[in-house]
Amino acid sequence: MSENTHGIGTLYIHAGTEPDPATGAIMTPIYQTSTYAQPAPGVNKGYEYSRSGNPTRAALEKALAEIEYGNYGLAFASGLAAEDAIIRLLSPGDEVIAANDMYGGTYRLFTKVFAKYGIVFHFVDFQNLENIENAITDKTKLIWSETPTNPLLNITDIEKVAAIANKHNILLCVDNTFASPYLQNPLKLGADIVVHSATKYLGGHSDVVLGAVVVNDKELNDKIQFYQNASGGVPGPQDCFLVLRGIKTLHLRMQRHCENGEKIAHFLRQHPKVSKVHWCGFEDHSGYEIAKKQMRGFGGMVSFELKNDSWEEVKRVLSSTKLITLAESLGGVESLMNHPATMTHASIPREERIKNGLNDGLIRLSIGIEDAEDLIKDLDQAING
Ligand SMILES: *Cc1c(COP(=O)(O)O)cnc(C)c1O
Repeated sequence: MSENTHGIGTLYIHAGTEPDPATGAIMTPIYQTSTYAQPAPGVNKGYEYSRSGNPTRAALEKALAEIEYGNYGLAFASGLAAEDAIIRLLSPGDEVIAANDMYGGTYRLFTKVFAKYGIVFHFVDFQNLENIENAITDKTKLIWSETPTNPLLNITDIEKVAAIANKHNILLCVDNTFASPYLQNPLKLGADIVVHSATKYLGGHSDVVLGAVVVNDKELNDKIQFYQNASGGVPGPQDCFLVLRGIKTLHLRMQRHCENGEKIAHFLRQHPKVSKVHWCGFEDHSGYEIAKKQMRGFGGMVSFELKNDSWEEVKRVLSSTKLITLAESLGGVESLMNHPATMTHASIPREERIKNGLNDGLIRLSIGIEDAEDLIKDLDQAING
């Protein structure tokens, strides 16, 4: 489906799917099968074995490509399985430049899994593009960016990083999980690879774990697809179905996530007990102008710090909300609260965390699509105590 002839809502409703050719079923069936009958040796209907390909997964992969305006989509068992397949493109001695405040699980995958195979990771602050230029060597093969970042909501200028990557013939991969394809499309801004934890906004209902990769280049797709099959980190058909269903309402959910995010960010900012609010929609946020340029909205992720940031007080607030649930993850219809220092980012050494601005008292909110007034009331009573 061409983006030029349809609006984004129409694209999301129809992406990758058509009535089932066999029965007319409107929803893509869950092809719960591991293998496929072959009429003769070497002859098949496009499917041989479900690690290599499955019709429900194929529909999702087509949808993923369409909503990121790319040519090829690949689905994985999780966001980290998707990232794992991308890093397998590299060989010992190759170097990667990655942002210094990205998702903790990505940091762990790089430093605890791939570093020991001789892949070298440099972590630098992507707010200053000179840091990227300065870290490039003739061994640099990949730049890894995440924007907005988790949980500080820092913004990286994708177009400018893509220009640097291009100039040096380095691949640029953007983790687009926090923005979702509704708010930002990295391939259009010059990235080579976009990766998603579809567990978050794409699935959108906190009921599935799945990862996605979208690229434009056929050769690059074929290489990553080789690892998808050879290493086998594939999702099951039911999980693919759930993400296909999630995509159909992505635009509506994101609109509400953005509206609620804005209301709650402003509420927190004027709260006398709050010292700092991180949200890229504030005009005085360091990444505001870039966010306005490359994103359709500012999203539903908001982090804040309390004036009294003693662990006792932070713990009390974390335990006091009634509607907002303390849990890892984000991007679902229900609001979640997370304490990065002890939860999602516990795998990053404390000194490293603090150096990057992630303080012990920081609380991250994934604002859901409930009524903003109810969420505000809940936060207010929790913060006031
Ligand atoms: C959750 C997350 C991941 C990892 O995805 P899983 O589906 O949990 O494996 C990667 N990047 C970001 C930004 C995330 O939030």
